[in-house]
Amino acid sequence: MHNIDTMTTTLLESGTFPHVVWQTSADALALSDSQGTVVAANPAYLHLYGYTEDEVVGENFAIIFPEEYRAIAIAQYRQIFSSPHTPVPFESVIRCKDGSERVVESRAEFIEQDGQRVAMLSSIRDVTERVRQGEALRRSEVLFRHTFEGAPVGMALVGVDLKPVRANEALCKLLGYSEEEIIARGVAGVTHPDDVQADLRLAQQLLRGELSSYALEKRYITASGDIVWAQLSVALVKDQDGNPLYALSMLEDITARKKIEDERAGLLAKEHEARMLAEEVIRAQGELLSLVTHDLRNPTTVIKGVTGLLQRQLTHGKEVTADQLTGKLIMINNAVDRIERFLVDLSRPQHLHPGQPLLITPERVDLVALARRVAQLHQEQTKQHNLMVETQTPQLVGYWDPSRLEQVLDNLVSNAVKYSPEGGTVRISIGYDEYTSGDMPDVEMGDESAGGESNGNHSRSMSNRHAVIIVQDEGMGIPANDLPDIFEWYRRGTNVRAIIRGTGVGLAGARQIVEQHSGSITASSSEGAGSTFTVVLPLQLVAE
Ligand code: ADP
Repeated sequence: MHNIDTMTTTLLESGTFPHVVWQTSADALALSDSQGTVVAANPAYLHLYGYTEDEVVGENFAIIFPEEYRAIAIAQYRQIFSSPHTPVPFESVIRCKDGSERVVESRAEFIEQDGQRVAMLSSIRDVTERVRQGEALRRSEVLFRHTFEGAPVGMALVGVDLKPVRANEALCKLLGYSEEEIIARGVAGVTHPDDVQADLRLAQQLLRGELSSYALEKRYITASGDIVWAQLSVALVKDQDGNPLYALSMLEDITARKKIEDERAGLLAKEHEARMLAEEVIRAQGELLSLVTHDLRNPTTVIKGVTGLLQRQLTHGKEVTADQLTGKLIMINNAVDRIERFLVDLSRPQHLHPGQPLLITPERVDLVALARRVAQLHQEQTKQHNLMVETQTPQLVGYWDPSRLEQVLDNLVSNAVKYSPEGGTVRISIGYDEYTSGDMPDVEMGDESAGGESNGNHSRSMSNRHAVIIVQDEGMGIPANDLPDIFEWYRRGTNVRAIIRGTGVGLAGARQIVEQHSGSITASSSEGAGSTFTVVLPLQLVAE
């Protein structure tokens, strides 16, 4: 056993371990002999453990350990001392004089004399803070891992390059992909194409530090191709210096809620549809009423007019010839025909609903006679107007539905009169094709011809020829803006709405009848100067 003083002197005053280093070292330094008895301790050592030099020097080093560890510490010390190996740094928990515990990291060096280990120099560093910080970090990492892994909601960590780096089990389950697959596919690879942009835009803002978090309802596409709705909440995770590290995404499956919302929206849509249908029915009923009043008014006016005229003639003792009476009876008969036809239509409501096909029964019809009859009828109602019938031939015969055609002509003539409140001439022209006025094209009339009015040129076929009816007035005309829509149901000119009664169904009905005869009807007009309506009908209609 070496003398302690000798060893101290040897170490500290030999020049190998300058005294100033011993005194000022921040690390606690102690010199101990082979049995563990402390030979010398520097100020940092005394400060660390809270002992005075007298309390330590000469005592076993193990007094700095909690009592229960002292025996083990002494045994380990002896083993290290006698082991040929250089001891490695090690951490241990020590107890200070005031009872507080600290964690220290110790390194040991041996002092040798004559090739013999005579003392151990321990250098001890207080690492309590570092260990505590490490522990806290480890704890928070464990906590995060537990939270992340075990969370019942889907979670993902997305890097600043917008690529996912982690995905938890709940997310894998939700999307049907493994974590590796989610990482490989990226955010866009699992997102519904319509929702990619919105999410990426917000994520970029978040990672640029413009947002600290965001929430979004978005759709994902699962591995099996299903659509999953999720409430996505994303928060920014920063490093100690405040730089963005990750976007932490949390996804809550809201597919069931969305389904309920969709069902509710579907119900609302259905309810809306039903309401619209009900309104449509009410509107259709109103429209039906317009049609009824419109289509019944004209024939009843005819009957009233003709019978009134006859009555007046008879009352005043005027002679009524058989021919005149026959003519009047034909008018009444035709009017009754129209009413009957209308009542048939009424019993088949689909025929009355605007746009529904009408029943067309073609018969042999002389357009000239029809035009004269309609003109005469209207002439009897007005003195202000002069109704003229111009015809290219005395007769123009074709196969059409007579009462429907009368309805068309009646509509056009009654409009011409009605919308010429100042009076004037209403010209009804009947002819073929390009016929306008005074122009007499070559025609072949065949059996349905005007009976001898042909100019004798029989070389042209009738198959492509058309009958043309033109009704021209000098009345109010139709504003240019209204003209394109004038044949639509319930459309009325803006210039007449407030001043002349009407239903807006006459022209639409006329067009329907004409088109069902494979013909066409057009209008030209200049406001304030009059209107011209032209009906073109194929001449050879095959009877159905
Ligand atoms: P109604 O005459 O009952 O309003 P119509 O369908 O017969 O319905 O006519 C539709 C609209 O076309 C009329 O409201 C009117 O504005 C315009 N119209 C039809 N014929 C003439 C005409 N000869 N002159 C001026 N406007 C006309």
